[in-house]
Amino acid sequence: MSKKRIAILGSTGSIGTQALDVIEAYPEIFSVGVLTAQNNADLLIEQAVKFLPKVVVIGNESFYDKVSAALSSFPIKVYGGNSALVSVVESDSIDIVLTAMVGYAGLLPTIHAIKAGKNIALANKETLVVAGELITNLAKENNVSIYPVDSEHSAIFQCLTGEGNNPIEKIILTASGGPFRGKESSFLASVTKQQALKHPNWSMGAKITIDSATLMNKGLEVIEAKWLFDLSASQIDVIVHPQSIIHSMVQFEDGSIKAQMGLPDMKLPIQYALHYPYRLKSSFPRFDFAAYPSLTFEKPDLETFRNLAIAYQALEKRGNAACIVNAANEIAVEAFLQDRIGFLEISDVIIESIAKIGYVENPTYLDYVNTNEATRRFALEMIQVKV
Ligand code: NAD
Ligand code: MG
Repeated sequence: MSKKRIAILGSTGSIGTQALDVIEAYPEIFSVGVLTAQNNADLLIEQAVKFLPKVVVIGNESFYDKVSAALSSFPIKVYGGNSALVSVVESDSIDIVLTAMVGYAGLLPTIHAIKAGKNIALANKETLVVAGELITNLAKENNVSIYPVDSEHSAIFQCLTGEGNNPIEKIILTASGGPFRGKESSFLASVTKQQALKHPNWSMGAKITIDSATLMNKGLEVIEAKWLFDLSASQIDVIVHPQSIIHSMVQFEDGSIKAQMGLPDMKLPIQYALHYPYRLKSSFPRFDFAAYPSLTFEKPDLETFRNLAIAYQALEKRGNAACIVNAANEIAVEAFLQDRIGFLEISDVIIESIAKIGYVENPTYLDYVNTNEATRRFALEMIQVKV
């Protein structure tokens, strides 16, 4: 069997580096075709020297000379600027694209990869949140598979394997509840980014860690699940499960519920997505039932953590609603990370953006681009007025 050649978009991030760990562990199965990163030139260079991809892209062009000089003695093509992403994903020398960059930036390269017939290992959930209908239709037209990397969606995907066309009654996404589980708004009003960045169970990039603290991550995942598994909003439940051992569940029409479990480790869903339908032998620590005598579950608090309720509303509303939510959230999270707004104001920015930005019922790609830009502009202005 020839090796699977992988393009990793966002190779220097949390998912990207763990994907490279997986690739390194199975050199007879995987090879690296493309590596890309935004700012971390040093790590990108180190990764390129080690994995010898055919192509490297450094998004921030001010680092192009540095990366290019460091790799000049290797048979590696180096590009600067993210506009190169759309062509490198089309390359004949890759088989699968792992979208591990953060945010809206994932949308256009994913579209190009699908149109070029590349299967997608999808970590970048924002792409499906912004344009789920467009992406899933494109995937169908191009006979491309989208393999989920997000642990909850991988869990559901694993539960569905072998089920043929058995209809799903509903899915149950588990949520850790984040660092502020059980807290009230009066407490949340003054939390700092340092507190919000301390996730109890997972070590991840800053944006998704804040999203986990606000429960927006679960909201984005509800929308992601809608598109991956063709469900309605009423078929998607969220349950808080602080131990993060059950990664999510599927309930079938006979009432049977299947769960996928294990200690939290993103390498499992990454390697499942990269090598589906095969399971690779691993040495990750195993879950010990006796060590966890109680797995607990509680309802999410949608009144305090408004972002989850906002995401459900956007899903019901369809059109460009989730695109507005995503763009406003990206701007608000960035502002929170810069200490420009408070934790509760993240939801305020999103709610006001939804009220302000025009609704488009059947958006085209250009409508998404315009919605994203208009929302970002509005959210930024709103934040400037506040501070
Ligand atoms: P991260 O911040 O650790 O890494 C992001 C990567 O994307 C970096 O390599 C960075 O250089 C690159 N990047 C940043 N901005 C970019 C831009 N504008 N254009 C192109 N590349 C850019 O993020 P992460 O935690 O690895 O998350 C990546 C994606 O995976 C997100 O969509 C996140 O929601 C999703 N995800 C992450 C986890 C996790 O455990 N970290 C779990 C599930 C899903
Ligand atoms: Mg997840």
